[in-house]
Amino acid sequence: MNKEKLIKSIRNVPDFPIPGIQFKDETTLFKDADCLKELSDELYEMYKDKGITKVAGIESRGFIMGPILAARLGAGFIPIRKPGKLPAATLEESYNKEYGTDTIQMHKDAITEDDVVLLHDDLLATGGTMKAAIKLTKRFNPKEIYVNFIIELLDLKGRAIFDEEDNVEVVLAL
Ligand code: AMP
Repeated sequence: MNKEKLIKSIRNVPDFPIPGIQFKDETTLFKDADCLKELSDELYEMYKDKGITKVAGIESRGFIMGPILAARLGAGFIPIRKPGKLPAATLEESYNKEYGTDTIQMHKDAITEDDVVLLHDDLLATGGTMKAAIKLTKRFNPKEIYVNFIIELLDLKGRAIFDEEDNVEVVLAL
């Protein structure tokens, strides 16, 4: 994988969505056919031997590479969504954010005890959302859970809230 090329393809947008945030815009990576192929190949290589049966993507940027990877792995895709978006019965998990709390939901029948689940999101910032997704997924009692991000923002030290057993891997550390 040409990491430099992938990193260069990500657009940094200062002060979006609020002053002080350096927003990592991956749309510039996704629109480049070579970069999209390289990223998809790399993700496939990382997980092809893990027996993944379901890839669960976190709303909304986890919905871009999540289904692409699921299809390549021969796995199913599950959306993890904000409240009120999933139409059937759900399980949910709430977590603290800088200001107030947030909630994520999954369909009650999304995962079985026979599944090996890969949780995917585009970017690791504080890690709060993914930590809640791990907690939610554990309630389904799957065989194994893996966690993947495309980008880790090293300065934010979000990795510290995960344990060794969370199996966290990233493609690009910035
Ligand atoms: P967190 O729960 O703090 O790890 O972040 C939740 C989500 O916010 C991530 O999955 C990203 O989609 C988004 N996000 C947070 N910070 C940034 C950033 N600097 N650039 C782009 N997306 C971000």
